Amino acid sequence: MKIYNSMTGRKEEFIPIDGRNVKMYACGITVNDLSHIGHARQAIVYAMFTDYLRYRGYNVKYVRNYTDVDDKIIDKANSLGRDAIEFSRAQIVEAEKDLESLHITSADVKTKASEYIEKIIKFVEELIEKDMAYSTPKGDVYYRVRNFRNYGKLSHRKIDELLNGVRIDLEEGKEDPIDFALWKSAKPGEVSWDSPWGQGRPGWHIECSVMATDTLGETIDIHGGGRDLIFPHHENEIAQSEALTGKEFAHYWSHCGLIKINGEKMSKSLGNSVTIRDAVKMYNYEVLKYLMLSKHYSSDIDIHDEDYILSEKQMYYFYNTISAAEKYAKTYIGDENGEKIEDGTLNTIKEQFVEAMDDDFNTPVVFANLHVTLKNINNLIKTSNKTNRQVIANTIIKSLNDIKEVYGVLGFFKQNPDVFAKEIKEKYLNKMNINEKFIDDEIAKRTEAKKNKDYVQADKIRAELDGIGIILNDTIDGTKWDIKELY
Ligand SMILES: [Zn+2]
Repeated sequence: MKIYNSMTGRKEEFIPIDGRNVKMYACGITVNDLSHIGHARQAIVYAMFTDYLRYRGYNVKYVRNYTDVDDKIIDKANSLGRDAIEFSRAQIVEAEKDLESLHITSADVKTKASEYIEKIIKFVEELIEKDMAYSTPKGDVYYRVRNFRNYGKLSHRKIDELLNGVRIDLEEGKEDPIDFALWKSAKPGEVSWDSPWGQGRPGWHIECSVMATDTLGETIDIHGGGRDLIFPHHENEIAQSEALTGKEFAHYWSHCGLIKINGEKMSKSLGNSVTIRDAVKMYNYEVLKYLMLSKHYSSDIDIHDEDYILSEKQMYYFYNTISAAEKYAKTYIGDENGEKIEDGTLNTIKEQFVEAMDDDFNTPVVFANLHVTLKNINNLIKTSNKTNRQVIANTIIKSLNDIKEVYGVLGFFKQNPDVFAKEIKEKYLNKMNINEKFIDDEIAKRTEAKKNKDYVQADKIRAELDGIGIILNDTIDGTKWDIKELY
């Protein structure tokens, strides 16, 4: 399989360092507030990597960190009159709840910076010994960037070019503006730990180098994170780790695209940030996952309000089609080992899935395939007659089993289709201010009218319901209603 590597700028054959064992680290959440859908996307993407690699037979160890000490956390905790660590621990509990509400594969190890202080100090001491870092009289420690020959290799820029794009704070004792903090001396009232350089706390970049090395070893297979982390965060992780170990830090650098809201960058200052909590209240988690995975993980997503609705309609269509096909296969007792119809699409569901996913986790193609597959299933049902229905039922049951297997790898179609559809229909009825009992009563009246051969009345009821957005389908199991807007 192939994975895009930001380091080389190419899709490369994926070859783990250690046979079938894969070590993956992804930069996690800085818990200064509730997690938003940008965090959700990144967690969904690296859970998807993990799930698919496991499906392909790899043993994956997936590590994610929580940044629980930094300036923003300290400021926020101070403004609330809370202890910074107590505050960030409470935020981690909330972040975990939010990620769980998305029903995604969780990291195997979740590290917290505040639990790594001793190891961070040791790492920094070793960098100082190697002349790659220096302490200042004030008690700060900086990384000596110009001593690391390959600085800029991930962002493909030279040090002086990089300097143009950054805000430079000329701090006391800093030798060079490009140097970055490994350890920050404590200001009054800040959370701090004892160190050889006095009271202080770690810088942000060092925590990932230390935690990744500690949990996974000196060289890892895949290092992931949002694309906004390439510089300076990931560049600095490389500088710290490779200066210390002399080995390549990560074989594959993977970056997930960013999220925009209605064409603008998502940010708290613009007031357009959407929390996971609010999103899950409005939309089923599979709808949100579809919204994220129907686009390639590396591309930016510009989410407009209607995109949620389109994703919801799409999932509604998928679930309803699968449910109808299931009912058909059940009625005619499909047997997946029985004689089946030759259909290039339906006979190769698993192969198509693997082909798309092996190509740098191409989930947009995976969902495009699903459209074609479901369309072919619908077409088969349309051609059903007494002589071919057994073969069709066999084909459908096999196709449905394959769909559930492969889309199940990505966490889809695990809910009861009727419950899923009901949830969405109820939401629409509420919005339309229509009582479900009213619809049932109207359908009963129409059935009665039809029984009495009063077709004028029956048609009138259908037209009236249609006028308020309710459509009727007469099936062998009786009349079913649906929401016009969902089609
Ligand atoms: Zn990181």
